[in-house]
Amino acid sequence: MQLIWLRSDLRLHDNTALTAAMERGPTVAVYLISPGQWQAHDDAACKVDFWLRNLVELGQALSALNVPLLIRYADTWDQAPKVLLDLCKEHTIAGLHLNDEYGINETNRDRAVAEALEQAGINVYRYLDQLLFKPGSVLTKAGNFFQVFSQFRRVCYSRLHEAMPRLVHAPEAQHRLNIHSDPVPHHVEGFAPPTEALRALWPAGEDEARRRLEAFTDEHIGYYQSERDFPAKPGTSQLSAYLVAGVISPRQCLHAALMSNHGEFETGNVGCVTWINELLWREFYKHTLVGSPRVSRHRTFRPETEAVPWRDAPEELAAWQEARTGLPIIDAAMRQLLETGWMHNRLRMVVAMFLTKNLLIDWRLGERFFMQHLIDGDLAANNGGWQWSSSTGTDSAPYFRIFNPLSQSERFDGEGHFIKRWLPVLGNLNKKDIHNPAAIGGLFGVGDYPKPMVDLRASRERALAAFKGLPHRQPAGGCYE
Ligand code: FAD
Repeated sequence: MQLIWLRSDLRLHDNTALTAAMERGPTVAVYLISPGQWQAHDDAACKVDFWLRNLVELGQALSALNVPLLIRYADTWDQAPKVLLDLCKEHTIAGLHLNDEYGINETNRDRAVAEALEQAGINVYRYLDQLLFKPGSVLTKAGNFFQVFSQFRRVCYSRLHEAMPRLVHAPEAQHRLNIHSDPVPHHVEGFAPPTEALRALWPAGEDEARRRLEAFTDEHIGYYQSERDFPAKPGTSQLSAYLVAGVISPRQCLHAALMSNHGEFETGNVGCVTWINELLWREFYKHTLVGSPRVSRHRTFRPETEAVPWRDAPEELAAWQEARTGLPIIDAAMRQLLETGWMHNRLRMVVAMFLTKNLLIDWRLGERFFMQHLIDGDLAANNGGWQWSSSTGTDSAPYFRIFNPLSQSERFDGEGHFIKRWLPVLGNLNKKDIHNPAAIGGLFGVGDYPKPMVDLRASRERALAAFKGLPHRQPAGGCYE
């Protein structure tokens, strides 16, 4: 009997470990519920709920193939070896199959599980599935991990020219086993279920993920480059939660994009090329996690930036978290996060820069808050995004290029539609005043929208001074404007 251990690969199609296990013989599937570990990782309640909802869907799809889905509890991952070993003994498992995950805790867990099982004579098979390229296989000529995205991408392109990662065929039904599936819990203690409104924004299941991918590559991808920065428009795929939970694979995304671009990834439609570029950013940050394990330990990628004199300002942090900074674009973005579990990429950069530069508050506090609320929370991408915004990361924004939230607002939400959607109290303001209500004296609309909590010019100067004082200046890098 074979065992597939499902983690962040909650799908039937193009699932390397699942297909490999079933090719080897009769297979059962297991999923571990790990509330203690999830708390320690700050996994958001809405994300845990999304996992459970997807597990229900996947359980049904597996059941149609006669693959039972077992649920086991391992509160923290140090319990995983024993829980899995017991399960293997119970069902005389000969081989465990798993798709690799990255991050220090994930790597240590998998190593401990492999040791325990191999000692008991059970084979452990690991597969590359979450990424297009195995971390450590895209290196500089000197054999190091890349620190500059454009150079990393160039090597990825040449690899794709040599061989395109292939989709794995879906497994076929096996003979019925005499093992019953376990019910998937509706919720896990410590993770309050989200609102039905939030759930409705993120329906579970592979069908939904593929519908999104198809709709995006059929209708929107061509405009991706020109539309993706405008939060009021449906310019991006909204696939991140599905990618993070593995309800869809990066290979499926890549192939769908290639289909709409006549098989090209470097040339052809600029929207397609730009979108594939984003899939490679996802790739880049996961490779960075493996190449620089320090970033998994809440450390900066650039050691010299450990010395930034972050301010201890709990009340200002709370104002940012609770969407009452008095800067409409920031508050609207934070409302979007709190109510939907997701935030538009442009705004993630804007609010992260505001926190780390204008408020000079440690990026780790913002990273944590994001993780606690994002339905697509992902250690690599979230850490990468925060370290980019705070100029502490690989290929990050140079410290002197600080976004001005007002000009970002005018540029990317010119009509104020996004702000009005999330801050209805400002609904009566015209498209000029809405970005900076303080400029008209604060006598507007209904309610009591606060004054800006900080002077943008003075706080910018403060941030520049803090970074200038660091031991070594950073070389200019950066990718966004
Ligand atoms: P699309 O624009 O359609 O992009 C397609 C896919 O490419 C995304 O689903 C995602 O998997 C990947 N992608 C796009 N941009 C990036 C990027 N900059 N870095 C890595 N992958 C990218 N993304 C997460 O998946 N999880 C996070 O926890 C996360 N935290 C972030 C925090 C900050 C401060 C910043 C600046 C960015 C963060 N991102 C994160 C990246 C990005 O904002 C989201 O991936 C994107 O907004 C998801 O929306 P989408 O699926 O419509 O993306």
